[in-house]
Amino acid sequence: MAIPLVYHASYSKLALPKNHRFPTSKYENLRQYLLDHNIANPEDFYSPLPISTDTLKQTHQSDYVDRYINNALDPKVIRRIGFPWSEALLRRTLHAINGTVLCAELAVKQGIALHLSGGYHHAHFDFGSGFCIFNDLMIAAKQMLLQQKATKVLIIDCDVHQGDGTASLSQAEPDIVSCSLHCQKNFPFRKQISDHDIEFNKATNDNEYLSVLRQVVPYLIGIHQPDLIIYDAGVDIHQNDDLGYLNISTSGILERDTFIFQQAKYANIPIAAVIGGGYSRDEAELTERHSQLFIAANAIW
Ligand SMILES: [Zn+2]
Repeated sequence: MAIPLVYHASYSKLALPKNHRFPTSKYENLRQYLLDHNIANPEDFYSPLPISTDTLKQTHQSDYVDRYINNALDPKVIRRIGFPWSEALLRRTLHAINGTVLCAELAVKQGIALHLSGGYHHAHFDFGSGFCIFNDLMIAAKQMLLQQKATKVLIIDCDVHQGDGTASLSQAEPDIVSCSLHCQKNFPFRKQISDHDIEFNKATNDNEYLSVLRQVVPYLIGIHQPDLIIYDAGVDIHQNDDLGYLNISTSGILERDTFIFQQAKYANIPIAAVIGGGYSRDEAELTERHSQLFIAANAIW
């Protein structure tokens, strides 16, 4: 089966100050890599429209949304996001957020869909942080509930950083279950409370990580019985990641993603996955890490 993929050209169109840590080029690099290695075909790609202000306001504070869109945020609030405001950033943000919504819609129809962006899990109700402006995971989950395409959504967040924005936003949403598996010593230093938090020590290796995952994911599916899973497949758990402190290999990432896809498929639960975080000055290596998600999906579907 051709797996639906979501991408927009704006994802990598962002001029940032020199030495900014955000790897802007990884999105278009990944798309090209998937095509060059016959992991994907051009006709597999779907392109999102920008998300509407009204949809953003169903998850975020109205005033915060308006101020961000009109470049009227306080400089302190902008600094906490970590990106200077620009038209290009706004365009990218609105498309990337709706990309995860589109990915969830496609997953509900086809069983699986993958987004070559997404995972903005540090965005809270009325402020953003850590390169995250609006919380695409929560927005997509909420839209699926409102559109009655799902009745219970499980967010499995395997990015190395805690999904603190998702944790705080999901407290008001009984039909959205948040689970964050993250390194205890990483950003954010003040953690929020997810429905489930699994903390790993620094330097956790493949075996330790995967044995926990193999217990946690079936348990979560069993007790919550979700009819949609949104999966943040951040690769900043990698041993060479610039911002993560875990010790997971590239093959460990492939095993993680394969296991989660297998669990969703066996339980017949649609799964929408986003690529999440991943930081390296070595662009080729970073692309290879993110490509594991797509290789895993192709092997299962
Ligand atoms: Zn991260």
